[in-house]
Order: sequence, then C-alpha cells, then structure tokens
Amino acid sequence: MSVAPARVSVIGAGLTGCLLACRLADAGHEVVLYDRRPDPRRIGVDEGRSINLAMSTRGLDALARIGLEARVRAGGVPMHGRRMHAVDGSLTFQPYGIRPEHHLLSVSRDALNALLLGAVDERPRIRTEFGRKLEDLDLDTGRLHFADGPEQDDTEQADGPSRGGGPVVGADGAWSAVRARLQRTRGFDLEQDHLEHGYKELTIPAGPGGAHRLEPHALHIWPRGSHMLIALPNPDGSFTCTLFWPLAGDVPFESLSTAAAVERVFATEFPDVLPLVPDLAGEFLRNPVGSLVTIRCTPWHHGSVLLLGDAAHAVVPFYGQGANAAMEDCTILLDVLAESSDWPAAFAEFERRRKPDADALADLALDNYVEMRAHVASRRFLAERRLERFLHRRFPDRFVPLYTMVTFTRIPYAEAVRRARRQDTLLRRLVSWGGIGLLAGAAGALAGVVRRIGGRR
Ligand code: FAD
Repeated sequence: MSVAPARVSVIGAGLTGCLLACRLADAGHEVVLYDRRPDPRRIGVDEGRSINLAMSTRGLDALARIGLEARVRAGGVPMHGRRMHAVDGSLTFQPYGIRPEHHLLSVSRDALNALLLGAVDERPRIRTEFGRKLEDLDLDTGRLHFADGPEQDDTEQADGPSRGGGPVVGADGAWSAVRARLQRTRGFDLEQDHLEHGYKELTIPAGPGGAHRLEPHALHIWPRGSHMLIALPNPDGSFTCTLFWPLAGDVPFESLSTAAAVERVFATEFPDVLPLVPDLAGEFLRNPVGSLVTIRCTPWHHGSVLLLGDAAHAVVPFYGQGANAAMEDCTILLDVLAESSDWPAAFAEFERRRKPDADALADLALDNYVEMRAHVASRRFLAERRLERFLHRRFPDRFVPLYTMVTFTRIPYAEAVRRARRQDTLLRRLVSWGGIGLLAGAAGALAGVVRRIGGRR
C-alpha cells in the first residue's frame, strides 16, 4: 500500500524542503519546490548568518537515503568531543562517546543547502521556483497565493497531475507562512517561546598555511554560567564562533555597542579568544543579533496540508538536533506515506508518531543550554559523564547515555528520554555514594542493577 502519485507543493527550499522534495520525487511524485529567496547558490552568504551545524546520525541517515551522506562527510570536519576553555586558559576535554564513530560533523548550513539543491536539480520530477514568497493558501483547494501573484496554473501543468487539492507541505521554517494559515483554523494551538538569550556569529580565521588555530576535531566551549561562546571548525582552517548572550539584565546584548565594550567583555570573559579574532570589534558590531525560539504547535496538518521541520517544531540549537530532527521527519514521513492509502490520513499518522518526539526534543534542547553554559565545567557533571561512559562500556546495550541515544542512534527522542530517566536514578545514586571509586570495586554488583534497568526499557 502507498499513497497515489500526486503533484506535491513544497514551500521552502531549505534543508527540510530540499530533502523532502528529493524523497518524494524518488517515490514517484511530481514536486514543485518554492522558496521566497533567490537561488542561494547565486547570491552568497549573509555575513554573520552562516551557521555551522553539528550533524549526527539522524541527519546523516536521512541524507544517505538520497545518496548524499558520503559527500556531506567529505565536506565536514569530525568533532570527537567538547573542548572546554576556562577563564584562566586551562583546557578540559569530554569525548562525545566511547567509539570512534561517536563524533559530530561540523558542516556549513549553506554548503549543505547548496548540496541538497544540487540533488534537487538532478531530479527531473522536481521543478524549483525561487523568489516566490508564499503569503497565503486555500486549505480546501491547496491553491497557493504568492507575494508576486497567484500560483501559475494549469498551462504549466499540462503534463502533470491536476492542481486541485494536491498535497502542500510547509517546510518554510520557524516563521512559517503555512503555519500562519493553519493558525487561523479552529482549535489550532501555538506556543512560541523566545529564549532570553540572543546570538551573534564571529570568525576565527585560519592560521598560516590554512592551519586551524585551535584543535580542529573538537567543539570548543567557553562556558561562563549566564552566557557562553562556542566554536565549530571549518575545513578551510577557520572556526565559526557563536556567542550566546542575555538580551536583558545587567549587561544586555545591546549594551555591547562600542569597540571598547566588546573588547572589555572578551578580555575578561574569553581572554584566549581575543588574539584569535583580529577584527573582533568590527565583526561584532557589523553582525546582527539572532533570536532563538521554541515552537510547539498542533495540529501539524489540515486535510492535505502538513507542516514539517522547523515550521512544525523549531527548537533552540543547544542539542545540535534541529536540522537532524527536521531531516529525520522526512524519513518518518516517507515511511508513513508508504504505509498509507491517502495523504490526509498519512499526515495525521505522521503527527501522531512524531509529535511526542518533537516535544521531547524541545525540552532536551532547552535543558542542554543550561548544561552547556553552566554545568559542563562542574566536577559533579564531569564525574557523572565519566561514570556514564564506564557503564556504557561495561554494558553497551543496557546502559546508553542520553547524549549517545539522541545523537548517535535513531531511538525516538521521547523513548530516549524515558530510558535516560531510569538510568539517571542509578547514576545519581552512584555518584552520591562515591562514584567512580565505588564503581571500580563494585562493577560485578552493578551488573545486576543495570540488567534490571535494561530489562525495563
Ligand atoms: P529553514 O532552514 O528555516 O528553511 C526554511 C526555508 O523556507 C528557507 O529557505 C526560507 O527562505 C523559506 N521560506 C520561509 N518563508 C517562506 C515563504 N513565506 N514562502 C516561501 N519560502 C519561504 N541544527 C542542527 O541539527 N545542528 C546544529 O548544530 C544546529 N545549530 C544551529 C545554530 C543556530 C545558531 C541556529 C539558529 C540553528 C541551528 N540548528 C542546528 C537548527 C537548524 O538550522 C534548523 O533546524 C534547520 O535549518 C531547519 O530547516 P528547515 O528547512 O525546516 O527550515
């Protein structure tokens, strides 16, 4: 069983829209992919909005399904753990996992989008229309209204299925126009939480001969309690840094508005970064402050219209999962379409399966912000992570750290959270009893406890 071939309109040619268009075309559907922007491959990158993604299993698995995984891997930089920078310059390292394949891949979002657009171009069943900003749509007929006029109609579809009622997927990001239309339907719930911190990008340029000026195979973090700086490596030797800083409070983002103020903050908070960013103040003052939002909404579908990716469930970036989850959406949606006989039923089933995971991820991402900026440097946190790795090594199938489940498996997010809660109870008890010292002598006794936990998962 599978849904009948259709002409699907996909709004948004970002990561989700491009990947979905490719998957739908490969499944035999005709796709029209619209984006409000001109072709990003022709206009280049907005300064200060380049964004590096930490890609991991869910996203890479989804990309493998359209044959892109190897190319994404070839263009990314593996990061094997977190390198923490204390104010006094001392460094500590936390590996992401216990196996070499437990690493993240630092990938430029624009480069990945360009690669996906290339895959779109290779598929004759997809037609792409850039510069088409969706303003509204008719939920009953699926008719689209763009800023530059209504959808061109039947003349251009002479050889495709007819327009009326064709499925529409809103993959148009956190500020989705498709979602805005659904919002006007009875019973639509929307929760939109802005983080009290904004972000700004900076660049650490490559050193002599294109060498990285920090250790390349790590995600660097300068955790400072109420704020933090991170840096992700690029293949050209540079690092993309992101400063997360409070929007309000004693020293709000907007107060960092002069070269002196910026340099003062970096000299006190991130002294080891100061010499690495030659044009620190200039770049800081030029680049925009980005905002971060969590979107929870329901229903994600109305008849033959569906929200996907950030349009359905934008999350803050602190678990490095927004794009990974958006791409995994495409995998799950295609599975559901293959098992369904009609599009509206498939869209309803997709939300039933996926919504609990999107909600779990939203919470995880918010919690991880506190962890990254405040806890990663604490002794207790480090002891717990060491203990987790010990248990995972000793009982690889029964005790799997939450981070490993989220990042290096496709265990549904909500299930990973439930399983981690049970593991946490054990972990906290062990840490308060003496942690690793106790463990060294009591691994045998622990086996029974862990086996019982594993048996309940
Ligand atoms: P988008 O990327 O927002 O794409 C939406 C597309 O729709 C765009 O091309 C836009 O032009 C188009 N569009 C919008 N409105 C309209 C309209 N009205 N009509 C037509 N087209 C329209 N995720 C990770 O997995 N790992 C990370 O490490 C990570 N780091 C991040 C760091 C930062 C600072 C931020 C902000 C995000 C990060 N993310 C990360 C999240 C990731 O960027 C998003 O989850 C991902 O881009 C979502 O893809 P999308 O295609 O759903 O939406």
